[in-house]
Amino acid sequence: MGEFELIARHFTRPVPPGGGVALGVGDDCALLAPAPGMQLAVSSDMLVEGRHFLATVDPAALGHKALAVNLSDLAAAGAKPLAFTLALALPSVDDAWLAGFARGLFALADAHGCTLAGGDTTRGPLTICVTVFGEVPAGGALLRSGARAGDDLWVSGTLGDARLALEVFRGTLAVPAEVFAAARARMERPTPRVALGQALRGIATSAIDVSDGLAGDLGHVLRAGGVGATLEADAAAARVAARGAPGMEAFDAAAWRSLALAGGDDYELAFTAPAAARAAVEAAGHAAGTPVTRIGRIEAEPGLRIVDAQGAPVTQRFASFDHFSATE
Ligand code: ADP
Ligand code: MG
Repeated sequence: MGEFELIARHFTRPVPPGGGVALGVGDDCALLAPAPGMQLAVSSDMLVEGRHFLATVDPAALGHKALAVNLSDLAAAGAKPLAFTLALALPSVDDAWLAGFARGLFALADAHGCTLAGGDTTRGPLTICVTVFGEVPAGGALLRSGARAGDDLWVSGTLGDARLALEVFRGTLAVPAEVFAAARARMERPTPRVALGQALRGIATSAIDVSDGLAGDLGHVLRAGGVGATLEADAAAARVAARGAPGMEAFDAAAWRSLALAGGDDYELAFTAPAAARAAVEAAGHAAGTPVTRIGRIEAEPGLRIVDAQGAPVTQRFASFDHFSATE
């Protein structure tokens, strides 16, 4: 099967009318048509075999994840997905693998009304680069830079699940089979918080999607806003999905904090909003079907201060993910 047959078979579908794509796969350029008054939000993320995933991963899960991590960036901007492009380097043409990959990719794309509008296909070490295009009212995008002293600090969904699964794969942790299955699903098929991001427009003062660990990603928001924060470690640690599961009694407070604050691959939204907007944030979470949890407060003094439930400083270091540092 040649390049063009491969594209025609696996990556060419009719373009739905009214979805912001005027011309899709097949010409030199795709044509996007965002609605009047909207800005285009654009983001790229690359997945490289060996670095971001293992060769043995289910191709459908990989198709899902390649798009999900990009949709997560649109979510953090409060943008509505329109279209994406797919640049693929493939070591060989494996029809069954491509069919699985396309199935996972298009299932998520269809769930978000996001049309594959073009791409590139070449031979090479397995690499997947997706670029997404979304639309957001001009001037209305959520940015990293808007946090103000006095704002609440919030996070969506659950934290640390993907890292838990990764450590089990690495052999540094052992957990019950059901806990591993749930954590693995979160790692391989993350849920981009697209509806929540849009619901937070006009409410959140800043937002970022958590891909490298909450504490580190929060640092970007604090530096961009010229502010600092106090983060309640145990409020974040309570959001690890496996918390309270049978067979997890050996995990101490430091372990849960590490997973939540330095986990990585969460694809949740961390965001700030004025204290007066608490009810509006809760309503946005409810409307989006995504739980939201208040985990701290923005302050004028720069830096991230991590405290326990009593407000005492947590001295554990999170930047290097100490708890599992043997593997880092
Ligand atoms: P060009 O020669 O302009 O680079 P290509 O021959 O690479 O064009 O691609 C032909 C058409 O197929 C283009 O419209 C391109 O966007 C699309 N395309 C190529 N690879 C993919 C892919 N993996 N997924 C979706 N569309 C693709
Ligand atoms: Mg090309």
